[in-house]
Amino acid sequence: MISRRKFIKICASAIAGIGLSKIIFQSPLVNGAANRQIPVLVYHRVGYTKDYLTVTPEKLEADFKILQDQGYCTISLEQFQNFLDDRNIDMPDKPILITFDDGYLDNFQNAYPILKRRGMIATFFIITGMLWTDDRLSPERIVEMAQGGMSFGSHTVTHRPLGQMVWDDIKEELVNSKAELESVLGRTVNAIAYPQGSYNKNVIMIADNVGYKTGFTVHEGICVKTSPDFELRRIPIFKYDGDIASVIARRGGI
Ligand SMILES: [Zn+2]
Repeated sequence: MISRRKFIKICASAIAGIGLSKIIFQSPLVNGAANRQIPVLVYHRVGYTKDYLTVTPEKLEADFKILQDQGYCTISLEQFQNFLDDRNIDMPDKPILITFDDGYLDNFQNAYPILKRRGMIATFFIITGMLWTDDRLSPERIVEMAQGGMSFGSHTVTHRPLGQMVWDDIKEELVNSKAELESVLGRTVNAIAYPQGSYNKNVIMIADNVGYKTGFTVHEGICVKTSPDFELRRIPIFKYDGDIASVIARRGGI
């Protein structure tokens, strides 16, 4: 039995880039990776606006505390993608991917400090056409958060529903947002969260063709090794939600 303290220590080691494989190798944390399920949470704004997609910093802190108390360990987007690639990667026993859509500035102001303080990491999906908008994450903030261990993916350029668009427009959204984010980060960007959860076969085909590896939907559910790479389910978290553990249990079906 691993204590909560040790769990958190191991998670923190992963973030710090310390030889996780060495630690894991000697611990019982890695087993049954093939059967593992990974909940992918999706938050939006973190603040005090009345929108149902906004959670308060207090709610976020309470959610994260419960996750840590229950032994969940946040993983990076890259770790998650490696899991889908079927590589036998080192992972904690209860991995979880926390995502934030829409790239609001309040993610930096209200979520990032909590994540840092708790030794957790998350993935942020950015609308690149809004990079220089006042209430969104600027390129400088994104770079700062990336240096702090956060991951980033595309949420397209304009946030229009891809599933209702024609081929060339879909391609433009996918290619341009990817390129813009890659120039900000100086590294490959290969994950997309479909705006408004809208996608179809064309969207998947184009995303695959232009270099994406994974596509996140807003269909409720949990991810497993056999989940389709471009139809990944997530667990949305809303303003009115109660205990995060019961939300995962309720919305985290396969
Ligand atoms: Zn969105």
